[in-house]
Amino acid sequence: MTSAVVPMPVHCELPHAHGPRLQAVCLDIDDTLIDFTTAARKALYGMIGRDDMWSTWQRMTEEHVARVVAGELDSGSMRLARTKAFLADLGAVVDDELVHRLEDRRRAEVDEAWALFDDVVPCLDWLQAAGLKVAAVTNASGAHQRDKLNALGIARFFDTVVIAGELGAAKPDPQIFRAACDRLDVPAQEALHVGDRLDVDAVGARDAGLLGVWLDRCGREPPGDPGVPVIETLSDLPELIVSEYVTPSATGPAGVPGQRATDPVSGPHGGWSTISLRQHGQ
Ligand SMILES: [Mg+2]
Repeated sequence: MTSAVVPMPVHCELPHAHGPRLQAVCLDIDDTLIDFTTAARKALYGMIGRDDMWSTWQRMTEEHVARVVAGELDSGSMRLARTKAFLADLGAVVDDELVHRLEDRRRAEVDEAWALFDDVVPCLDWLQAAGLKVAAVTNASGAHQRDKLNALGIARFFDTVVIAGELGAAKPDPQIFRAACDRLDVPAQEALHVGDRLDVDAVGARDAGLLGVWLDRCGREPPGDPGVPVIETLSDLPELIVSEYVTPSATGPAGVPGQRATDPVSGPHGGWSTISLRQHGQ
């Protein structure tokens, strides 16, 4: 474990700049930027009055989103079909009108409850100051993901939003990571992807040629070597980037060689957190 304060990047030419170039950072949305599970789980409880069916809901959601990605359903039809199938699995046979009402109410409750994690805006500020292109890459079914980013005031940070349901390919399929790189006009080896799911996000990105980083917010410490760098908060991402990569701001034409900014990026508790980077398999 190391402790460090990562300053805001400045446009200067570092005489000792070395290492691979990084031009872009891709970020998953749900449970990486937005505390989606807390909001969605609460709304599901509101719909059925019990909290023990979350894993079933997740499984059925993934199955139905896969049908959107495959072009079998549109996003709106998927939500109704998923909720109807879920209620049927609970033994509740309900007509389409009631499914519609229940799903609309559940969805409204999710929309009201979702929130950004505290480390998101400071991290996005830092990435922008570092001169990095930024993409959101999500396995969700439709354009509501852009509405989330807009509603939470962070859409301005993103050069593109890549949505599995629109593209027809979902993480960990390499196509979605390569589509993000193509839209950002950067080679995969000069891009990094961060997400909360080890297999879908970090390992998938790594296998597509990007640097995959696992955001392990819960400190789950998997058995064995995950084969990718692991961070426990987005506050640790700048430290990972500056220790491994040359960013556009470190090779720009302006500035005084060797000059470093003195003001740390302000985090939710007054500065970047103590770094607790767990590097694996490098
Ligand atoms: Mg996620």
